[in-house]
Amino acid sequence: MKHMTYDNWLQYVNDELDEETRNHYENHLYSCDDCLELYLQAVEANEFQLPELTTSFTDSVMQQVQGMVKGEKDTSKAVTQNKFRKQTITHYILAAAMTLILMSTGVFSQLMNVAGTIENNETKQPESFVHSFLNKKDSILDKFENNFKEGNQ
Ligand SMILES: [Zn+2]
Repeated sequence: MKHMTYDNWLQYVNDELDEETRNHYENHLYSCDDCLELYLQAVEANEFQLPELTTSFTDSVMQQVQGMVKGEKDTSKAVTQNKFRKQTITHYILAAAMTLILMSTGVFSQLMNVAGTIENNETKQPESFVHSFLNKKDSILDKFENNFKEGNQ
């Protein structure tokens, strides 16, 4: 089998060969690693020789980069969604923990009593429920604080 020279492959890359020779070169390329190496060198050299080819190469790279950037944006969006989901779960856990704490300290049953009072008294403002809750919460906090102080003494 006759091998092609580097110049032959440059001609092939530059499309300077007739169709029959091209086919012959291509078939040879499939079965010869040495000529494949020369062919790749010729392709590489040809890219630097032709500015328009380099430009199109740069364009394709830029498109890939833009695609990657777009992909990154999508990824960050997914991350944000995951973060949001995580925060939501955290809120649920916090709410559950708060409910347990309120129940264990008896605030919950006191709140239920307050709610019942409001339901029975329609003229009462909704704010008073919040105020009652805050007052009770403060008094409980005071109790805790006093217990803590007493415990330290
Ligand atoms: Zn060869």
